[in-house]
Amino acid sequence: MQFPPLKITFLGTGTSTGIPMIACPCAVCHSTDKKDKRLRSSILIESPTTTIVVDTTPDFRYQMLRADVKKLDAVLFTHPHKDHIAGLDDVRAFNFFQHRHMPVYANELTIEGLRREFGYAFADKRYPGVPNLSMHPITLEPFSIGDIFITPILVWHLKMPVYGFRFGPFTYITDANRIEEGEKEKIRGSQVLVLHALRRENHISHFTLSEAIATVHQLEIETAYFTHISHQLGLHHVIEKELPEGMHLAYDELVVNV
Ligand SMILES: [Zn+2]
Ligand SMILES: [Zn+2]
Ligand SMILES: [Zn+2]
Repeated sequence: MQFPPLKITFLGTGTSTGIPMIACPCAVCHSTDKKDKRLRSSILIESPTTTIVVDTTPDFRYQMLRADVKKLDAVLFTHPHKDHIAGLDDVRAFNFFQHRHMPVYANELTIEGLRREFGYAFADKRYPGVPNLSMHPITLEPFSIGDIFITPILVWHLKMPVYGFRFGPFTYITDANRIEEGEKEKIRGSQVLVLHALRRENHISHFTLSEAIATVHQLEIETAYFTHISHQLGLHHVIEKELPEGMHLAYDELVVNV
């Protein structure tokens, strides 16, 4: 299959609190290194004709402004946790300027969450100016948005099913602590894998750094970036030096081309 060239921009690479975390006295939250400033995790994917955002974080408005996004064709969701959906209201700006609804692609569990959190956008009588969304329920069946072909990958976030996505040679997976063997097959052969790595210490629903590294080794991926990072992981430049060859910490505004 022919895939269009894709430009991936990391809009945010932080865990749910972001870095710096409000009121935190730690060294990471007080670092002056730009790479230690992390908005909540999200990526922008651009082909020559199509622009998609994965998740709308609480920082969505600023992320769109910072990356100077003028056109957005669709929103794709991984799961309904607040740090991945909270910014959805701000797609209104694209509704105004693109004179159309915003297509939203999400699994059933996430659509349920969106209907709950943004009930006013789904009401029969809608207040003028609320987000205008068109819902596209997705399953594990591959689908396309414009010229971008997408294969959903099921991963587990403790007991919550989360969708990772493969876009041709590029795979994005966040908020997981377990991937079943069958789903790992969908990731194999990716040129670039983004995987989430929260911190060093164990967590019930998130991969640790060593678990993420082991997964990359097991899948024999050449280039990997870790995201959804907690201030507990440490300073960017310190951790980056410790990582095996081909593995990096992602940082905000990093651009990867595949
Ligand atoms: Zn999250
Ligand atoms: Zn901190
Ligand atoms: Zn989550």
